Amino acid sequence: MQATSPNQKIACPVCGANQLTPILKKKAMPLYNLELHRSRADALAAARGDLDYYQCSGCTFVFNAAFNPSLMNYKVAYNNDRALSQIYRAYMDTVCERINNMFDITGKTIVEVGCGSGEFLKQLHQKYSFRGYGYDPNLSAANNHHETLTFINDYYRADLAKPDLLILRHTLEHLGDPHVFLDEITGTQAPRLALAPAKRVDLYIEVPAWEWIVERNQIFAFSFEHCSYYTKPALEKTLTKHGFQTRKLSFGFKGEHLEYYGTRKN
Ligand SMILES: [Zn+2]
Repeated sequence: MQATSPNQKIACPVCGANQLTPILKKKAMPLYNLELHRSRADALAAARGDLDYYQCSGCTFVFNAAFNPSLMNYKVAYNNDRALSQIYRAYMDTVCERINNMFDITGKTIVEVGCGSGEFLKQLHQKYSFRGYGYDPNLSAANNHHETLTFINDYYRADLAKPDLLILRHTLEHLGDPHVFLDEITGTQAPRLALAPAKRVDLYIEVPAWEWIVERNQIFAFSFEHCSYYTKPALEKTLTKHGFQTRKLSFGFKGEHLEYYGTRKN
């Protein structure tokens, strides 16, 4: 790791500061961690991108300055389903309980953006009664309906559902500019399209914890699609900019995840 110095070309996507510490550079890494390849030849020919990670001295956010979102298309054959792991399901169960304890979700409308196979919404629905919408460009057609859950095989569209609770589990770390995305889905900028009619919206976010990666020297965490890593202060600063008040910010899954619980009154 080199010394911190002002960077003339790159600014932190969270706070705009240019006092940055270079972390790691690596050329030609596969774009996706979890893309399925049908043959060795296909795997060797996988599309690639470069890593050029920095940490911001202002807010401690970590990001890949070489990330290019136009290279990404999550409609590739991609499998991040962990529902067969008993340990992971037990962890998700504790998250379900913490979410309900915080937000009292019975009867509410819940939207999960980047819901993967829908495993989390389904598990939440086994415990509590609510109307849920899951959005993911990589959903299988078989997943479209599940009792009062609706799964939409696409990126989030605010016209279909106005959430009382918005869930983003393992989504923000895939986005180079969190503010553009959060503006789009929470309508921070006028006109406040996405959440405008709701008097308040609750928010649950789960991302990998940068603190855990550093403490355990988890070098394999660096990958092209994980272009953003949050510390506690970086995550709180990001959401504060969009008007959310933190209600709880803690480590989960034995420190590997950050769990953010917040509310915005519109
Ligand atoms: Zn920053």
